[in-house]
Amino acid sequence: MTTIEIPEPIRLDVGEDWRDHANCKGQLHLFFAKKAERPQARARREAKANALCQECPVMEPCREFARSNREYGFWAGESEEDRHLMGFTVSAPIGLRARKYRMGGDAHTADDTLRSA
Ligand code: SF4
Repeated sequence: MTTIEIPEPIRLDVGEDWRDHANCKGQLHLFFAKKAERPQARARREAKANALCQECPVMEPCREFARSNREYGFWAGESEEDRHLMGFTVSAPIGLRARKYRMGGDAHTADDTLRSA
C-alpha cells in the first residue's frame, strides 16, 4: 500500500506577507510575457510557471490577490485570459493595446484612450 503525504498548509502570522513563501521568487521571467512573445513560447513559459504554482504553498492568497487587483501576467495557475473568462478582466488587455498600436496609434496615446473609455 502506498502512503501519500499531504503537506501541512502554511499558517501565516498576522502581518506576514504571503509573498515571502512564493515559489516564484527569482523566476518572474516565467510569469510575464516578453515583448512580442509568440503563442508557442507563451504556452511553454506558462506551463513552466504553472508547474511552480501547483507546488506553491500560497496559491490561494496569490490567486485572490491577482483576481482582486486585475493583475497582468500569470498568477496562481491562471493567465490573464483565464481570469478574463471568469470576469476578472484587466483594465487594458495587452492584446487590445497592441492592436491599437499596430493601427497607427502611439502606445501611450492608446493607453490614455483606453483609460478614459
Ligand atoms: S501561486 Fe504561482 S504566482 Fe502565486 S506565488 Fe505561488 S508560484 Fe508565484
